[in-house]
Amino acid sequence: MSRAEADTGGHLFYQSRNPRPFLDRGEGIYLYDESGKRYIDGCSGAMVSNIGHSNPRVLAKMKAQMDRATFGYRLHFRTHPSEDLAAKTVSLCPEGLDRVFFVSGGSEAVESAVKLARQYALTQGLGSRYKVISRFPSYHGCTFGALDLTGYDPLREPFAPMMEGMPKITAPMTYLDRDNLTEEARGLKYAELLRDRIEEEGPENVLAFLMEPIGGASTGALVAPDSYYTRIREICDEYGVLLIFDEVMSGAGRTGKFLASEHFGVVPDIVVLSKGFGAGYAPLGAIVAPSRLVEPVLDAGGFLHGFTYAGNPLACAAGLAVLEELEEQGLIENAARMGDLLKAKLTGLMDRYPFIGHVRGKGLLLAFELVSDRETMRPLPRELNAYNRLVEIAYELGLIIYSRRTRGGYEGDHFLVCPPLIVTEAQVDEIIGLLDTALARFATELSPAMSE
Ligand code: PMP
Repeated sequence: MSRAEADTGGHLFYQSRNPRPFLDRGEGIYLYDESGKRYIDGCSGAMVSNIGHSNPRVLAKMKAQMDRATFGYRLHFRTHPSEDLAAKTVSLCPEGLDRVFFVSGGSEAVESAVKLARQYALTQGLGSRYKVISRFPSYHGCTFGALDLTGYDPLREPFAPMMEGMPKITAPMTYLDRDNLTEEARGLKYAELLRDRIEEEGPENVLAFLMEPIGGASTGALVAPDSYYTRIREICDEYGVLLIFDEVMSGAGRTGKFLASEHFGVVPDIVVLSKGFGAGYAPLGAIVAPSRLVEPVLDAGGFLHGFTYAGNPLACAAGLAVLEELEEQGLIENAARMGDLLKAKLTGLMDRYPFIGHVRGKGLLLAFELVSDRETMRPLPRELNAYNRLVEIAYELGLIIYSRRTRGGYEGDHFLVCPPLIVTEAQVDEIIGLLDTALARFATELSPAMSE
C-alpha cells in the first residue's frame, strides 16, 4: 500500500479514522510532517514529551544500552539501568517514598498502585477493604480497572456492566462555584465529600482514595485550594485509607516541581508516574511507595503482579537519561518560570476574547476553558464542537494543542497548552502568537453561531 492510500485507511486502526499526515521527525519542541510542514508541539503529544524531541544525549545513552542488551527478563537478571533509574526516582521524590515498581504506561501504573494497596491491606488483616474512591471528572486509564476509577462518562458507559462501579466524589472545580465562601472554605467543603463517602461506603470497606493532584485531560489542569490537599490527607489518615496520587500527567517536573503534590506539602502513600517519566523515548511508568507498604507484601510471599516488559533495560536507560536531562538542564525550574510566563500571556488573551472563561494550572500544565458567558461560566453549546474546532484551526496554523469536552454532570470545553519543559521565552511568544490567530479565526466563526 502506498502512503497516500494509507492516508485514507490502511490496516492500522486506533480510536477512530485518522486523517493526520505522516510524522517525519521531531526536533526540540517542533515536529515535522512528511510534506515538511512544521508544528509546534504545544501539548507535548499527550503531555508526554517533557524534554522535547530527539534529544541527542538521551538517544546516545539509549544507543549505548541497545548495543549491550535491549531486554533481560527481571526474573533472570537485575540490570543497572533499572536499579539506577529507581535510585534516581527516589532521590527526586519526597522522603519516605523509597521503593519503585516499573511498568510500561499510565493505566498499568494505576492498576499496580491499587493492587499494591490491596495486598498491603491483606497483610494487615484488612481484607474487607477493597473500594477505591476516586473523583468525577477524572481520568486514570483505559484498562478495566483503571477505567472503573475514571470519572468520564463517555468512556465508561459502554463498559459499565463489566466493571465493579467504584465510588466517585465530585472534584473541587471551585472556579465554577458562585457562593460566598473563601477558596479555603471551598477546599474544605469539597474535601469533606471524601469523609461523607467513606462513611457511606463503610470505612471498613474503603481501601484507598485516588486523585490527580493537578488535573489532566479530565478537568483541564484543575488546581484545588491548598486546604483541600491537607484535609484530604487528614481524612485518609483518620480512616486508615491509603492516598494514591495519580501523577501520570502532573509528575516528572511538568508543574515546576518533580511531583505536583510538592506544591501542597502533602505526601501521598503511593505515587503513580508515566508520560513525562519516559518523555516519549520509551513506554515507561512507575509506582513509588514507601518500604512500610512494600516490605509486608514481600514478606507475605511477594507482589502478585508484574508485566513482561516491566523494568526492561532499554526503557529504563531512556528514563534515566530523561531524568538526568531534567536535572542537568534545570528543566523543572524552567517549567516553573516558563509556566508563569505562559500563564500570564494566556490570561492576557482573556482581554481580547470574552469567550475565554478561565485560565488555570501550574508550571507547564496549563489550560484555558471556553464559555458562552464568563460571569456564569455557562458552557458553549455542545453542537459547536468548540473543543474540536479550535484545535483544528490551530493545527492548520502549525500549533498542536490538546482539548476535551467534559461531559456528564458538568460540561465544558477546555484546552491544554503544555509545551515541552525546554520551551524558551521566544517560543512561548510563538505559541501565544499562533494561538491568538487561531482564537481570532475561531471568534469569526463563533459570533454568527452564537447569534443564531
Ligand atoms: N492517569 C492519568 C492522569 C492520565 O492522564 C493518563 C493518560 N492520559 C493515564 C492515567 C493513563 O495512561 P496511559 O494512557 O499511558 O495508560
